[in-house]
Amino acid sequence: MQEILDRILVDIQPYFGMGEVADYIPELAKVNPKSFAMTVETIDGKSYSCGEFDQKFSIQSISKVFVLSMAMELLQDQLWERVGREPSGTAFNSLVQLETEQGIPRNPFINAGALVTTDTIIQHFSNPYKEILSFVQNLSQNFDIQFDKRVALSEFQNSDRNSALAHFMKSFGNIESDPMTLLDVYFHHCSIAMTTQDLAKSFLFLANGGVNPPTGESIVSKLKAKRVNSLMLTSGLYDNVGDFAYRVGLPAKSGVGGGIVAVLPGEFSVAVWSPELNLSGNSLVGTKALELFTSYTEKSIF
Ligand code: GLN
Repeated sequence: MQEILDRILVDIQPYFGMGEVADYIPELAKVNPKSFAMTVETIDGKSYSCGEFDQKFSIQSISKVFVLSMAMELLQDQLWERVGREPSGTAFNSLVQLETEQGIPRNPFINAGALVTTDTIIQHFSNPYKEILSFVQNLSQNFDIQFDKRVALSEFQNSDRNSALAHFMKSFGNIESDPMTLLDVYFHHCSIAMTTQDLAKSFLFLANGGVNPPTGESIVSKLKAKRVNSLMLTSGLYDNVGDFAYRVGLPAKSGVGGGIVAVLPGEFSVAVWSPELNLSGNSLVGTKALELFTSYTEKSIF
C-alpha cells in the first residue's frame, strides 16, 4: 500500500496547474496550490500516507457528511420531508431548482441541503458549534481539531449566494432558524481544519457499518451508514458525480478546500488533498489520485 501511495505521488505531477484554487472565499486562496497529501486508514488500524499529510486544510463541504449523519440520528425519516435524495445535476451553490421544487433541496450535499441539515442541528442543541466540533473530534480521535475562524469570517463576508439560499428556503417554510445564525454555524463547520490523516480516520465509521473502529462506538446504525454511503455515491461530487463514479468507483465527498474522502465499506477510508479544483469545484489532482489508487489497488465497490 505504501508503495502505491508513493507511486501516485510521482504519477500525479503532470496534473498540477490544470485546475484553479477556490477564490470566492478569499482566505482559501492563500493556500499553496501545489500542496498534496493522501492517507489510507484501514478498519483494522493500519495507516499509510504520502505528501503533506500533517498539513491542516479547510474541509468545507466534507463537513456536510458529519452534519447529515447527526441530522439523520436526530430526525430519522422525518428528515426526508425537508430534503431530497436525488443528484442535482447543478452546481453546489445553485438556486435554480429551489423555486420549482418548493424550497426542498435535491440532496443534503448541495449547499441548500446542508443548510437544512444544519438547521436541524441548531434546533436540537443549545450549542450547535460545540456539538458538531465534538462529533468530528470524537470520530477522528483528535481533540485538537478546531474551526478556522478566519476562513469562517472570510466566507461570511462573501456570503451573498448562501444567504440567498437560506432566505429563499425560509420563505418556503423549510428553515426554522434565523438565517444569520444558520449561516454562521454552516460557515463554521465548513471551516473545520483537518489533515488527510484526521479526515480518513473520521470517515472510518462509514467503512465499518457505522461503528468507529478505534473506540468501538456506534456512531450511526448499519442501515444509516449504508444510506450515507449511497448518498455520497449519487450526490457527493455535485454535477461531477457521474464522471467521478466512472473513474474512481467509490462513494466520496469533496470540498472546495481541495479535500476528497472516499470509503470502501469493509476495508478502508482514503482522504486526499490538493487545492486546485476542476470546473465543478472538486479537487482535480485529488480525483486523479483516487482514480490511480482504485486502478493500482484494484479495490473499488464495483
Ligand atoms: N462553504 C462552501 C460554500 O458554502 C462549501 C462549498 C463546497 O465545499 N463545495 O460555498
